[in-house]
Amino acid sequence: MTPETCARRALGDRPEGLAHRLGLGLFPELCVVCGRPVAIRDRYRDICPACVTRLPWRLPSEMSIPLVSSSLLGLFSAKDYRDARQQRLIVPFHYEETTRRLLRQLKFHDAEEYAHVFAGPMADALRLVLYSRLERERGRRPGRRLAGALDSALVLPVPLSAGRRRERGYNQAERIARPLAALLGLPLIETALWRRRETGRQTQLDNTGRLANMRGAFAASPEICSGATFLLVDDIATSGLTLYEAGSTLRAAGARDVLFVVAASPSRPESLPSGARHVYADALFRAH
Ligand SMILES: [Zn+2]
Repeated sequence: MTPETCARRALGDRPEGLAHRLGLGLFPELCVVCGRPVAIRDRYRDICPACVTRLPWRLPSEMSIPLVSSSLLGLFSAKDYRDARQQRLIVPFHYEETTRRLLRQLKFHDAEEYAHVFAGPMADALRLVLYSRLERERGRRPGRRLAGALDSALVLPVPLSAGRRRERGYNQAERIARPLAALLGLPLIETALWRRRETGRQTQLDNTGRLANMRGAFAASPEICSGATFLLVDDIATSGLTLYEAGSTLRAAGARDVLFVVAASPSRPESLPSGARHVYADALFRAH
């Protein structure tokens, strides 16, 4: 924990709290990567511009990827396949050493400054992808629909099971979703979706097992979902199966549209040489 964080906690102060509003400035933000002070004018909070440039950014053309990994799509029914193929995941970063370290800090130490590092780039990636698509597809319905969807979306973190949440004390997806919602000027809602059961670690399962394990894992509130558009938020997406299942549950409960955004996603096995795929899969599911 940085001295700044200690001090903030001791004072019960959050950035939007009293000391911040009074501009006391006793504790300048420190970069979570290199520890140097971060100037207030910097674009992203809690990280300095030099470290921002060294993060494993995706190219703009790689910030919108298929929601579900193609290695799993082949196992879907014809209807689910058609449905899943149309869905896109928006993601600003590759899942590499730096992003892995920062996301683990967030996951296991509940340090909110790590959430800020991701929320800003996620908001930018959403705007970049959805509005540039709007430009490209000017006059065509899908672009208009997606950009319009973001304007009216409810921000929804992917829920943990009740047991896991109790054990950890918080949901890391919610930690990212909250500043993201503030940056986008959208409401955050946590009660629309919940886990019906613990799905456990998927490490030991093959693709068919993972699919069966996730099916029916979520339940959603028809009262909240009816006619609503959601921006579903998580920290990491690997196969995309968790997000797909959560999104399908929301739509089955009446949601009109679901957009998907995560902080980081590893390169998918289909984009690697075949010899590297086992290594990828092992590393991936151990890390998760
Ligand atoms: Zn730095």
